[in-house]
Amino acid sequence: MARTDFGPPHYSTLIPDIIKENYGKWLYHEQIRPGVLKHVSETGAELYTVRVGSPRLASIDFIREICEIADKYSKGHLRFTSRHNIEFLLDDKEMVEPLLEELARRGLPVGGTGHSVSNIVHTQGWVHCHSAATDASGLVKSLMDGLYDYFVENKLPNMVRIAVACCLNMCGAVHCSDIAIVGIHRKPPRIDHEKLHKVCEIPSVIQSCPTGAIKPNPKLKSVEVNPDKCMYCGNCYTVCPAMPIADPENDGVAIFVGGKVSNARTAPKFSRLAIPYLPNNPPRWTETVEAVKHLLEVYAENALPGERYGEWIERIGWERFFKLTGLPFTEKHIDDFIFAPTTFRTTTQFNW
Ligand code: SF4
Ligand code: SF4
Repeated sequence: MARTDFGPPHYSTLIPDIIKENYGKWLYHEQIRPGVLKHVSETGAELYTVRVGSPRLASIDFIREICEIADKYSKGHLRFTSRHNIEFLLDDKEMVEPLLEELARRGLPVGGTGHSVSNIVHTQGWVHCHSAATDASGLVKSLMDGLYDYFVENKLPNMVRIAVACCLNMCGAVHCSDIAIVGIHRKPPRIDHEKLHKVCEIPSVIQSCPTGAIKPNPKLKSVEVNPDKCMYCGNCYTVCPAMPIADPENDGVAIFVGGKVSNARTAPKFSRLAIPYLPNNPPRWTETVEAVKHLLEVYAENALPGERYGEWIERIGWERFFKLTGLPFTEKHIDDFIFAPTTFRTTTQFNW
């Protein structure tokens, strides 16, 4: 019979027996040490989770390596979290220490649980997307190298979720992460008038612009962009390859802070702009790594135990956040120009 159910197998066929047997019966979990969790069931069963950082872009060799480790210590079971941490799931306490020793021998960092920086999530599209303004994987690798101590230790007031998106479409968790880095363009698209009418539908191009910055140019059978209205989103380039926007000299990243998805203690929050622009500086993105480290250090020094990044800022006020971090506050931080006269204080909570 022809197989028609292509796609991933049902998850229940792949999970460890201990999880199947104790489904709905887990009583509590605790962190034994950074990177190692213990879940206890009402049946008395104990599940040990060992969390390891991944390089985000994983080679086949690396996948083979972690599968080999899983075969040896966790009955072939491992999983990737949504932030691409690797988790080995063990039902035998005696295997935890040998696994930790092997991971240390292989140079694989254990951490990412509790009050730490977990693996950094990023949008993968720079590999194929036309709108990317930065190389998300390279930037994340540089950040994770720079934040290694925050991954393997619990030295922050609470967990810190960091995300990178390579363009404003932000198809990652950037809008709701404690610290979020977004690739940005800073110049309007360049129009290839020769090519445009041959490859693009002009009405669709005009319609693609969320700010109405594009109008027809009948003389050239092309379009024009009003630079004052353009917000450099790249949407027009999505529908028209004759309007490229990527620009190695001017593209860079912006850093947002204070978002979270959790509704523990306070409601979920959107991240807000802290640093409008830092240059793309491959291969190590020194400025961005230093800026994120600084944001973490100021948070670690000033937040109360248990406070998430945004909760800390809201308690002390954004004015004080800018003072403590030494970051300049500019007109770019005002997130609502049209309604600013009436909503300035409520939307950004600034006093000046
Ligand atoms: Fe593509 Fe933008 Fe998503 Fe990156 S953030 S993957 S460039 S849509
Ligand atoms: Fe409009 Fe965005 Fe294109 Fe600018 S980049 S012209 S705002 S669609």
